[in-house]
Amino acid sequence: MSREIYDLCIVGAGMYGSAAARHASANPAFHVCLVGPSEPKEDQKQTAEIHAAHYDEGRIVHIAYTNPAMQVLVRNTIKRFRELENLSGMKFYHPVGTIVTAERDTCCLYDLLQGLETHGVSFIDMSDGEDLRKRFPFLHLDECDYPVFDDDGAGYINCRRIVEAQKKVAQLQGCHIVEDIVDEVTDLMFGVHEVITKRRTKIKAKRVLLCTGAFTHFKKFRPLRRLKMVVNKETVVFLRIPYIEKIRLGSMPTLLMYRDGLADMPTKGAYILPPIQYPDGYWYLKIGYLGQMQNSELISLEESKNWYNCDGDKEVLLNFSRFLIHLIPGLLVDEVSSQTCTSCDNPTDLPYIDRISPTVAIAVVGNGRGATMCDEVGRLAAELCLTGRWDSQLPKRLFEALFEDD
Ligand SMILES: Cc1cc2nc3c(=O)[nH]c(=O)nc-3n(C[C@H](O)[C@H](O)[C@H](O)COP(=O)(O)OP(=O)(O)OC[C@H]3O[C@@H](n4cnc5c(N)ncnc54)[C@H](O)[C@@H]3O)c2cc1C
Repeated sequence: MSREIYDLCIVGAGMYGSAAARHASANPAFHVCLVGPSEPKEDQKQTAEIHAAHYDEGRIVHIAYTNPAMQVLVRNTIKRFRELENLSGMKFYHPVGTIVTAERDTCCLYDLLQGLETHGVSFIDMSDGEDLRKRFPFLHLDECDYPVFDDDGAGYINCRRIVEAQKKVAQLQGCHIVEDIVDEVTDLMFGVHEVITKRRTKIKAKRVLLCTGAFTHFKKFRPLRRLKMVVNKETVVFLRIPYIEKIRLGSMPTLLMYRDGLADMPTKGAYILPPIQYPDGYWYLKIGYLGQMQNSELISLEESKNWYNCDGDKEVLLNFSRFLIHLIPGLLVDEVSSQTCTSCDNPTDLPYIDRISPTVAIAVVGNGRGATMCDEVGRLAAELCLTGRWDSQLPKRLFEALFEDD
């Protein structure tokens, strides 16, 4: 048992939790602890029960969202990337731009264009094809896709590395980092909560912030009730390409393509990452789907563990790799593979950032976009949990938690 009493214990060292730890520990008056396991090594994956949504090298960040609240969260996140890179000495941000497409003559397109104009998001309309051909000659968009280019800080981040950068700065600021899984958070007793880990460490803290993503309902976190949130299976497809293709696709941006039924699959579209070098030294293009597949909900820790230990949906692998080869004619591919992950979705389409008791707060749910707003979500949650203050121009009620039994 640790004898220290922390002002704040953050459970979950992922994209939200690590950001919260950095912001909370920036104030030397607060004694902060961050608890969470690091990524399981290859030989530990089969037995690991807790995984994360950030075990990857690329997550799209962009401002061209129709939801104005998202735009604010993202802007405030992106504007701090360079500062975090400087403070940590770690590079993770690649502002290569993002092409967003929507089907011509659909509400989706009109909503997108109206949202961007209304909220002053700068974008380049590439719908006449000319600019697109000049800047990205290797891309072959279908006639039905209307492209706009978000070139105002959009691109991608290395999500593994940003988490490491946040943790490094937090630690330098005095945050205590414990690499362990939390099995239980107890009710407040004599002014403190006990955070009990798998290795039976008992951490005492006056405030607790839960940033446990898709795993939030799988442990005893009192006084948390069941949130209105769905944990969904995700399959991601990787196309390993030779180095010469990496050179040919040198100017490739990230892509978000909204089109119902894209790749002959029942999804809302696809997201695509440009060539990124992975830890094995090879270069990969990545493609995944927008929206959810049917029957993709995970409801137990056992189901989640099995999902993380399989290769995912074979149809996704086949159809989305074909689609990417169609999008980049002549693409040379050495190998196609898939990986699994999970995402959290809720009815508000925004993260829950809320106090569930005077001393326990949550920052959970990304709706597939948590990376792009991670730093601001972590900052708001840390401030709210420590001081009770909502430090944003956005109304707090947008982020209030909804519970199944309400
Ligand atoms: C395939 C895929 C592609 C995505 N692409 C994008 C994208 O392009 N752009 C984008 O913005 N977003 C994207 N996302 C979503 C984004 O990755 C998530 O929204 C984001 O990671 C959410 O952050 P989080 O902190 O809530 O969860 P996570 O990053 O998953 O972190 C949760 C942390 O909690 C820890 N934890 C859980 N339970 C416990 C416990 N009991 N004790 C201790 N620690 C615990 C885990 O170890 C983990 O580190 C994608 C997600 C997936 C799955």
